[in-house]
Amino acid sequence: MTVTRWLAAAVSVVCLAGGISAATATTDRPTAGAAGIGDTYFPQHGNGGYDVARYDIRNRVATAQGRVTGVTAFRATATQALSRLNVDLVLPVDSVTVDGRRARFHRPNRHEVQITPPRSIAKGSSFVVRVAYHGRPASIGWGGEKPWVANRNEIVAMGEPQIAAWWFAGNDHPRDKAAFDIRITVAKGQRAIANGTLESVTKRRTTTVWHWRAVEPMAPYLAFFAAGRFAIERGRSATGLPWLNAVSRDLPPGEQRQSLALLRQTPKVVAWLESWLGPYPFSITGGLVTGVDVGFALENQTRPTYPYAGGTGSTWLVVHEIAHQWFGDKVSVRNWRDIWLNEGPATYFEMLWSKNWGEATPQAWLLSAWNANAAGSDFWKVRIGNPGVARLFDGAVYERGAMTLQALRHRIGDDDFKAVLQAWISDREHGSTADFIALAESTSGESLDSFFDAWLFTAARPAKTAANGLA
Ligand SMILES: [Zn+2]
Repeated sequence: MTVTRWLAAAVSVVCLAGGISAATATTDRPTAGAAGIGDTYFPQHGNGGYDVARYDIRNRVATAQGRVTGVTAFRATATQALSRLNVDLVLPVDSVTVDGRRARFHRPNRHEVQITPPRSIAKGSSFVVRVAYHGRPASIGWGGEKPWVANRNEIVAMGEPQIAAWWFAGNDHPRDKAAFDIRITVAKGQRAIANGTLESVTKRRTTTVWHWRAVEPMAPYLAFFAAGRFAIERGRSATGLPWLNAVSRDLPPGEQRQSLALLRQTPKVVAWLESWLGPYPFSITGGLVTGVDVGFALENQTRPTYPYAGGTGSTWLVVHEIAHQWFGDKVSVRNWRDIWLNEGPATYFEMLWSKNWGEATPQAWLLSAWNANAAGSDFWKVRIGNPGVARLFDGAVYERGAMTLQALRHRIGDDDFKAVLQAWISDREHGSTADFIALAESTSGESLDSFFDAWLFTAARPAKTAANGLA
């Protein structure tokens, strides 16, 4: 995510409650799946006891009324014998079935739907949950946040870490990735854009159904859709990678032209990042510029969303969100406290693209940033390896994260640094800070505990030493 510099977006404060660890079945006796997946920052996010393979979302949206009516069906595998399971959804529920049989459901709170299937689900078996719902997502808050962004002409379902539960039912945590089919029905004359490839556009008398498919595993918060009036451009990059861009027709004509020009930079940015990181991890790319005043950009998988940000002079913003396709989307956080693993690299590549933000070398930028943030300033008080919910998207998570990477590069050398980044994104779908430290140590053959302690886990400016990559 990038909070655009000219607009301060309100980042929510969610109170940090005690974690609920996922229930683990020790026998085959069916038990209730946990209400959360085990993320201490967001105890209700995700659920225990199952793993989703594929979502099939069919929503009808009435843009002017801000209304969503739909059905989500998902296929999952039980990781424990289940007498009951939870799904995440803040919209009012109309009905639930499990494997085609009507299931009882209960709402213990606004975020959770507790589902009791007519018969228990055996560990290891595959099952289909179908949830029908309707409501006005803009009116619903959870965890101190109302993440739905829309105006009377346009909706764009984008948010981090919360948005999925406002438009589909599922297991809302990056730990459970799945493939997605997204069908959005809009009024005739409107368009709906989502992740992945456009499979079909079905015109009915008064409505149109837009069907999008994301085949590569995707974290639920990275699924998105936008509905309204959009110009669509598509093509292929020099290497044959398909791209699809969309720009809101609600923007003034000059801004639409600038936005299309900005999004056309995407294939070039992908190619530049591939030279650093190896192959782009997905089968399509692109972007969307919304006419809604959202105030931030987000790395939705295969198709980041941007506010109006000007023309090609804002390519740094595209670099940030496309870098997230590797760091955040291909490799996702195991826990939200690991957020620096997303924002650090995205900011680092933004810095490299932007010619070291005016310094002669990346190392000169690091030293300049180190100097610019005085010892004892609030900047250094953020322990970015565990920043706390309120500081999840603090500026320090971004900048200190990027500084950590440059310091690591200086400490272990260019070749090892590049090898760490490439191994990180090619070998896994999820990672924790401990995983990253272990990889940096095994790649470089150096003990880096005190280095990472100083950069990630100490509420003070790292000393200007060679060990800290600063001399
Ligand atoms: Zn970001």
